[in-house]
Amino acid sequence: MKSFEQIAAELQGYDPQALSADAVNSFLAQMVEPVQRTEVLPLFEAFERVLATDVVSPVSVPPHDNSAMDGYVFDGAQLQPDQPLTLQPVGGTAFAGKAWQGEVGKGQCVKIMTGAIMPAGLNTVVPQELVQTTAGGTITIAPGLLALGDNRRFMGEDLMQGHPALRQGQRLTPAALGLVASLGLPTVTVYRRLRVAYFSTGDEILSLGDAPREGAVFDSNRYTVFGLLKRLGCEVLDLGVVGDDPAQLEATFRRAANEADAIITSGGVSVGEADHTKSMMKKLAGDDPASGGGVAFWRIAMRPGRPMAVGRIPKTGPTASLSEQVSYQNELKTAVLFGLPGNPVAVMVTFLAFVRPALQRMMGCNAPPPVLLKARSTQTLRKKPGRTEYQRGSVTTRPDGSLWVDVAGNQGSGVLRSMVEANGLIVLHHHQNSVAEGDEVDVMVFDGVV
Ligand code: AMP
Ligand code: MG
Repeated sequence: MKSFEQIAAELQGYDPQALSADAVNSFLAQMVEPVQRTEVLPLFEAFERVLATDVVSPVSVPPHDNSAMDGYVFDGAQLQPDQPLTLQPVGGTAFAGKAWQGEVGKGQCVKIMTGAIMPAGLNTVVPQELVQTTAGGTITIAPGLLALGDNRRFMGEDLMQGHPALRQGQRLTPAALGLVASLGLPTVTVYRRLRVAYFSTGDEILSLGDAPREGAVFDSNRYTVFGLLKRLGCEVLDLGVVGDDPAQLEATFRRAANEADAIITSGGVSVGEADHTKSMMKKLAGDDPASGGGVAFWRIAMRPGRPMAVGRIPKTGPTASLSEQVSYQNELKTAVLFGLPGNPVAVMVTFLAFVRPALQRMMGCNAPPPVLLKARSTQTLRKKPGRTEYQRGSVTTRPDGSLWVDVAGNQGSGVLRSMVEANGLIVLHHHQNSVAEGDEVDVMVFDGVV
């Protein structure tokens, strides 16, 4: 694993005092590594987990050529471009679930149901509603309605036996879970869950249940971080609120580093911050490159967000309280630290922009970057090139089908309410200028994430 110095040296134009959002993600992608341990789980328990191996299809899906419609099956070679085709149904029906045994010759057809195996030698299905039935019991198909091979599903059209149906790194979404089940596989091999510890720092931060006092605010960051982590499928370890006390900070950081794969803190990383958070991060990261430890304090060219610390804290030994922890010790030598700013919106934005992709990488998940929607801005957005801005926005569809995005309420970086009212983040990219009313902007939609 590369040291912090190596990563920084290799990153073009690395400037910890003015890092672009892209540079942050490049740095983090090198700073973290995926977990290795895997487990075999029954399908229901594997929901939302990440595949540690390709899932190779043991069967072809569908297993036979079959009919896509209710209708009549026949040999399509008899179709003429300019003449109707009249066919005599033989008795019986080809039902789904069992092979039909009879013979169907030239000029004949047989009734078939959707999903039924195509009888031998037959290749075309005319849907029920496209035929005219005569008094004599024959059916007629008008010319030009149908071509040879129509309404036939091929064996292996969905999946071919021996081919990968799903790739390593795929998250087991509802669709993926169904696909594995459709192959008849009762279990899958997945990466172990990522365990993430989090705590809030600051003397002015109250835990729920504390008596309110002047100048103090209730901790909201642990709750948003908890929700964001849960939605990613992480195991969480809540370490509470830690005041500006070196002994307490050290004990909490140590416990977090030993018991978790990653640590998320909020607060105490701004420039000129008087508290002990940063010095403790530095102390625990150590200065021995062989240990894998390291820490960097950044000012990111973004809004909101800006200050952020990242680090790797060497694990010093298992914590006695959890026997299960022993297995965590041997795998990753360090815990990854994300020291987020204190402002509640900045916490969420930096999580979405940087922490989430890094955690996904640690989970072994090869999720593509979030899809950005194009919507037109309902108003002018002032912006200078040279930093990335994330504004809380609300996307709506107008009656003509066009997408418009409205900046949601007060954009102050402490205002969580506008985060709740928004359904996405307008992303104004690093080099982008001001946006005029009606211009298209990129929106990272919250769907299922926030
Ligand atoms: P800091 O980054 O520590 O300077 O904090 C910036 C702002 O965020 C201050 O107004 C803090 O009161 C506020 N803040 C810090 N941590 C939290 C928290 N856990 N919950 C809510 N607000 C917080
Ligand atoms: Mg503070």
